[in-house]
Amino acid sequence: MYTVIEAQREIPVYDSCDILVVGGGAAGHSAAIAAARAGAKNVILMERYGYMGGDATGGYVIMVPKLSWYDKSFVRGIQEEWFTRMKDIPGAVMGPSLDKIGWTDPIYINQWKSIHDCVSRRDFGGTQEPCLVRSVYFEPNQLKIEMDNMLREHADSIKVMYHTWGVRPIMEGSEVKGVFFESKEGRKAILAKTVIDATGDGDIYSQAGAPHHNLTEAGLRSSATALVWRIGGISWDAYTHWMNSTEGAFKMVFEGLQKIAGYRTMPLPSNQNDICWMNNWLYEMNSANVADLTQTEMKVRESIRRVLDFLKETIPCAFRDAFLYDIAPQLGARCSRRLIGEYVMSANDFAFANQFEDVIAWHSTICQINDCGPVEIPYRAILPQKIENLLAPGRHLSADKASIDWLNLIPQCVGTGQAAGVAAAVAVEEGTTVRNVNIKKVQDILVEQDVPLPRNDKFRAKDPTYEEMVKAHNYGLDTEMARKAREGAKGVQGYRQW
Ligand SMILES: Cc1cc2nc3c(=O)[nH]c(=O)nc-3n(C[C@H](O)[C@H](O)[C@H](O)COP(=O)(O)OP(=O)(O)OC[C@H]3O[C@@H](n4cnc5c(N)ncnc54)[C@H](O)[C@@H]3O)c2cc1C
Repeated sequence: MYTVIEAQREIPVYDSCDILVVGGGAAGHSAAIAAARAGAKNVILMERYGYMGGDATGGYVIMVPKLSWYDKSFVRGIQEEWFTRMKDIPGAVMGPSLDKIGWTDPIYINQWKSIHDCVSRRDFGGTQEPCLVRSVYFEPNQLKIEMDNMLREHADSIKVMYHTWGVRPIMEGSEVKGVFFESKEGRKAILAKTVIDATGDGDIYSQAGAPHHNLTEAGLRSSATALVWRIGGISWDAYTHWMNSTEGAFKMVFEGLQKIAGYRTMPLPSNQNDICWMNNWLYEMNSANVADLTQTEMKVRESIRRVLDFLKETIPCAFRDAFLYDIAPQLGARCSRRLIGEYVMSANDFAFANQFEDVIAWHSTICQINDCGPVEIPYRAILPQKIENLLAPGRHLSADKASIDWLNLIPQCVGTGQAAGVAAAVAVEEGTTVRNVNIKKVQDILVEQDVPLPRNDKFRAKDPTYEEMVKAHNYGLDTEMARKAREGAKGVQGYRQW
C-alpha cells in the first residue's frame, strides 16, 4: 500500500479520568452509568455523534427481544430501567408488561401474537407452551432523551463529551493509558486508568494490539449492514391480517421486496400501529470499511421510493396511504471486528448450558438451540488477551461467528456494558487492574443493580425461584438442536442463523 509519513507532534492533554468510555451506544452508556452507581467519581463518556444509544437510537433498531423466559425476567438492570422509566410517556414503549410475562391466556396471546417475539414460539422444537414474552418496542427519540436524563442524574461523576471521535489508544508497552481523540478542536488526549472500548467496532482494542477477528461472511446475519427507515400512514394490524389470510403472502412480500430493493428487506412492527420500520440486510458488508458503509447508505436510499411503491401496490389494505416517515440518522452496524478475548463464546455454551465462575450476565436471548432460555456470559468474554486496563463490552465482544448472532443484541450489549462499568469502578476503588479485579465483588454489585445472576447468594436471597425454574425446564435443552449437539461429541457445528 502507498503510504505517507505523518509528522510527529505534541498533543495537548485535554483531561484525565479514572474510567474513559469510548462510544455511547447501548454498551457504553450502560458502562458509564453502572460505573457511577458503583461509586466511580471520575468517568468520561466520549461519543462521536450528538446523542446516546448508537444502533438502538440513531440506527432505529427499535426492538429489544426476549427479556424474559417463562415467567421470569432475566434481562433486568439498566436494560429494564430504560423501559420502566419511559412507560408512562405516551407512545414511548410497547410490549407485554413485566407483570404479565409467562401468561398463557389465549386472550393475551391473541392480542400480542402479531407483534414479533412478544409470544414464545415452538417452531424450533422447543417445549414451551405459547406465553407472553417481555419484548419491547420503543420510540428512539424518546430513548435519546431518557439516556441523557440518566447521565444528568450522575453529572457529579460522569462527564459527557459529544462530537468527539476516539481515534487511537495511548500505549505504554501492553498497557492502555488513555485515548487520542479528534473533534472540531483538533487532536487531543485523555489519560485514564481504565478504558472501556464500547465503539462496537473494536476501534480501540484493534489498535492496542488485542487479538481479534474481522467478520464478513456470506449469509451471516451479523455480517450485514443496514440503513433502517420508517414508513408512516400504515396499519400493522391490517398487514398481519393480510399476511395470515392470504395464501403465499410471506413469499410474495419477501421475494418481491428482495427483487425490488436489490437486497433483503422486510417490514417490522414499531411502537405504533401506524408506523413500521424497514429492517434490511446488506450481506458481506463490514461496518469498519468506508467503501461498504458508503455503499450501504446509497444503495438503501436509492431503493426507498421503489420499495414504498411495491408495498402500496401489493398490500393496499395496509399501505394505501403509506409515506416515507424518516430515515435513521446513522447506518446500522451489526458486527465487524470481534474480540478474541480470554474466553470465546460459542454455540456450545448454549447447547450445554455452560456455567462460569465469572458470570456477569444470565440472559434469555433469541437463540433457538436452548429454546431462548438463559445463557451465562463470563467476564472473560469482554476481557482482551495481552492488553491491560481495557474492557470490550457490546457487539464486538468475544464470541465465535455462530454465537455472535445471539450475543450482539441490545440486551446483551447493555448487560455486558453494565458489567464492564462495575468492574472498572471496583478496579479503580481497590487500586487494581480490570484483569485482576475481585469478580465476586463485581457480581454482588451487579445483583444490587438489579442483575439476576446464578449461584450468587445475594441474588438467591432476593429470589430463590429462578434457578429452580430453570432446572425444572431443563435449561431449555429439550430442543432437537441441543439434543443433536450433545449427542455429537464435537457439539454444535456449522450452525447459521437465518
Ligand atoms: C438493522 C439492525 C437490526 C437489528 N435488530 C436487532 C433487534 O431487533 N433487536 C436487538 O436487540 N438488536 C438488534 N440489532 C443489534 C443491536 O442493535 C446492536 O448490536 C447493538 O445496539 C449494539 O450496541 P453497542 O453499544 O455494542 O454498539 P453501537 O450501538 O454501535 O454503539 C457504539 C457507539 O459508539 C460510537 N462510536 C463508534 N466508534 C466511535 C469512536 N471511535 N469514538 C467515539 N464514539 C464512537 C457510535 O457512534 C455509537 O454510539 C440490530 C442491528 C442492526 C444494525
